[in-house]
Amino acid sequence: MAGIYLDHAATTPIDPRVLESMVPFFADVPANPSSLHSAGAAAREAVELARATIASVLGADPEGVVFTSGGTESDNWAIRGLVSDGGSLIVSAVEHHAVLEPAQALARVGVRLVSAPVSHTGQAEPSEIGSRILNGCQLVSVMGANNETGVRQDVKAIGRVCAEKGVPLHVDAVQSAVYDPPHLRRDSVAAVSLSGHKLYGPKGVGALVFNRALHPKPLLLGGGQERGLRGGTLNVPGIVGLATALRIAFDERAAESARIDRIRNRFEPRVIQQVEDVEIVGSDAPRLPGHSLLIVRGVDAGALLMALDERGVYASAGAACSAGSTEPSHVLLAMGYSPEEARSAVRFTLGRWTSEEDVNTAADALAEAVAELRALRS
Ligand code: PLP
Repeated sequence: MAGIYLDHAATTPIDPRVLESMVPFFADVPANPSSLHSAGAAAREAVELARATIASVLGADPEGVVFTSGGTESDNWAIRGLVSDGGSLIVSAVEHHAVLEPAQALARVGVRLVSAPVSHTGQAEPSEIGSRILNGCQLVSVMGANNETGVRQDVKAIGRVCAEKGVPLHVDAVQSAVYDPPHLRRDSVAAVSLSGHKLYGPKGVGALVFNRALHPKPLLLGGGQERGLRGGTLNVPGIVGLATALRIAFDERAAESARIDRIRNRFEPRVIQQVEDVEIVGSDAPRLPGHSLLIVRGVDAGALLMALDERGVYASAGAACSAGSTEPSHVLLAMGYSPEEARSAVRFTLGRWTSEEDVNTAADALAEAVAELRALRS
């Protein structure tokens, strides 16, 4: 790719080590893991090894790891599978649509849906969540870190509040797992959503990981795979890739977080130095190291992205899935920004192969593009 890719929150390129681990399972070990012959056993063994790897990183039992098609499926399943008619559910106001939409669908059929507010920095206060947990509450769902801002939630503190009240906590860790996966036992987390393509792994594979106290309703009925919880032939190369990706991210998380944070600490001051009237969203809160969401006042994010693209810099407007939508981001609105500010938000997300030179070039390209667009307006 010729340009500078700064859209790792939308998806990450696959790590060559991950790809290498997957390759044998496309052709050399072609079997269905449900087959009884020895080729099937080899595929089954690879799946069980992957399950054990994920379980050990997240502090779960291997039986609590169920493979899915990605983050959206895991989130939908957590919400629909753990909340039943007549119950209530608490979600933070800044959750991804993969949590909000199924939650709203349940609300339309009688589930009580409670939204927990966030501060101007994008964090949900654990006590605000605790005070909303009333009788009948069946689940709290909070993300590890937000996909638009990178702002982390205090999962440990929220886990403690939920544990005190005896309510399970689901964490959408799709963005955060690459740096800081939740630990079910230590963090009092009951269920976690993962997605391969945000971890330098393959697209179209993920997992819902839950503790033994939870009994989610089956998601897909069919051949009885995944202990009857999610029927369908398993995606063996994808599952192997997901586990390899999580293992690499986990082993390298400290060094990688420090490296990316250092590079972002070059990028943001260089932008501030050159561009007037720009705000870094969530800069006072704990953020994922790779995220930099900038509100460039008076500039339309769509026009700015095109101007950056012409200069070979690939960024995004908030959430990838909201790109192209004219609706301002619900995340920024919940944080108290105006619709105009939300429409001026551009997200740069750094990743495993981003260099200091890349971010210097991107900051300079941003300054040039903003100057051009502001000149057109005046
Ligand atoms: N949750 C969060 C926080 C995300 O950022 C995303 C994707 O952007 C998803 C869920 C959906 O994941 P997937 O693309 O694997 O369906």
